[in-house]
Amino acid sequence: MKYVIVTGGVMSGLGKGITSSSIGRILKNKGYAVTAVKIDPYINIDAGTMNPFQHGEVFVLKDGGEVDLDLGNYERFLDTELSSDHNITTGKIYKAVIEKERRGDYLGGTVQIIPHITNEIKERIRAVAERSGAEICLIEVGGTVGDIESMPFLEAARQMQREEAVHDLALVHVTLVPDDIQGEQKTKPTQHSVKELRELGLYPNIIVARCSSVLSAEVKEKIALFCDVPANAIISAPDVEDVYHVPLIFEKEGLSEYLAEKLELKKDGNQSGWRKLVGRMDEINKSGKKISIAVVGKYIDIRDAYTSIRESLKHAGIVCGCKVGIEWIDSDSLDTPELVRRSLESFDGILVPGGFGGRGIEGKIRAIEYARKNDVPFLGLCLGMQLAVVEFARDVLGLHDANSSEFGSTAHPVIDLLPEQHDVTDMGGSMRLGNYEAVLVEGSLARRLYGDTRIVERHRHRYEVNPKYIDQFESNGMVFSGKNKNRMEIMEIPSHRFFIGCQFHPEFKSRPGKPAPLFKGFVEAAAENQ
Ligand code: GLN
Repeated sequence: MKYVIVTGGVMSGLGKGITSSSIGRILKNKGYAVTAVKIDPYINIDAGTMNPFQHGEVFVLKDGGEVDLDLGNYERFLDTELSSDHNITTGKIYKAVIEKERRGDYLGGTVQIIPHITNEIKERIRAVAERSGAEICLIEVGGTVGDIESMPFLEAARQMQREEAVHDLALVHVTLVPDDIQGEQKTKPTQHSVKELRELGLYPNIIVARCSSVLSAEVKEKIALFCDVPANAIISAPDVEDVYHVPLIFEKEGLSEYLAEKLELKKDGNQSGWRKLVGRMDEINKSGKKISIAVVGKYIDIRDAYTSIRESLKHAGIVCGCKVGIEWIDSDSLDTPELVRRSLESFDGILVPGGFGGRGIEGKIRAIEYARKNDVPFLGLCLGMQLAVVEFARDVLGLHDANSSEFGSTAHPVIDLLPEQHDVTDMGGSMRLGNYEAVLVEGSLARRLYGDTRIVERHRHRYEVNPKYIDQFESNGMVFSGKNKNRMEIMEIPSHRFFIGCQFHPEFKSRPGKPAPLFKGFVEAAAENQ
């Protein structure tokens, strides 16, 4: 097994996740089986309880793991499916060590950060890497070098650098080379950051420098001199229009070549497949063919809260031949039907994403009503589907106080917990997470889009369409076209141009070159609507 460890310095938000994913993609394109592990130094066991407003999207894996959004980047860039053990947190590590201590596994020894915590970290990384069947494992250490929280992980990385053969481990350090007011590229933050890393006993093999434009040869020489890294191992990571350009830039900067030398990689597959995909995306962007989609949600001021949706729309656009412009509309602002019309009339499609809690619900319902009544292509994801059901119940079935029981008690809980869930008091325990199957109804839109009778998609929800109301819905023009026993997985309105909602999250399985079928259908319909 070979390891590529990615650390970050200077400040957070430099794009370590995209850097790791892009390195992974380069290695995959060479012909290697690649996997990735994300280390999050926070004490939470997983991201399930974390607020997307602070932390960005909670990404859901096939096994139901609720993890950092970087695992979404890995899955998309590497076109793979990962499991929860690919996300290591301080919480998981300490929990395991404390449980072992209570069981007496440490035979009365004093349990310490070194070696017990660091051993647990190394064992987990190595076990995940082996189990995955990959040849190369990327390890991204979250946080910034110098953070108290990351210390045990960096110490584990130091030990691994010592224990693994020289050609089996490469350490990549991501830093920043800012421009000063005269536009000169400044290397001091990088020098300091590498110094800090070296104080911890870690010696970077490659430096990826985030910068506004490609580093000059002199600047690379200077970093090489001060940081003890050869100039050809200093890789510029300039700002790009789209993250899918990054693997190609890294290739051009010589990262692939240097990694091959360091890790003694023999396979020499090329980047042509990826280059073709990116080329197609660029062509479409230049062609000016563009549709605009309104995403009506709650966390609109933090784009990271909807990363997978943004990427899924992009994937669909690349295949459908149009750029997808996204406007994030705050559902709280959709107070009246007039405001709704004014905010939404210029869009080719309306998407209502998933969410929890009652804030902004009525605005989303108004947006859905607008889409339904004006024949605007609509895609509802999870909560978006549930609210489409509520809207239909209120307006078409005439159940004016219909609602989801998530938002308080109502005479018509058209969205409700199933009877067996009512007694579960542990909120985490009642959540339906990860892969579940749905059987698709013959002749439905869903069936046509998937081209299959059975599908598997990822879930993250508690509430369901209330089975008591299904007949009423179906005799009034709504079809539940995807089902898992008494759970309604997909709803659609056949008389509408394109109106579909799903209880699952198709955005987690969309990949560049392989868009999620519901997104592809939605973007196609929006392009036709234009
Ligand atoms: N809050 C809803 C539920 O728990 C929807 C969840 C979601 O959109 N992910 O069922």
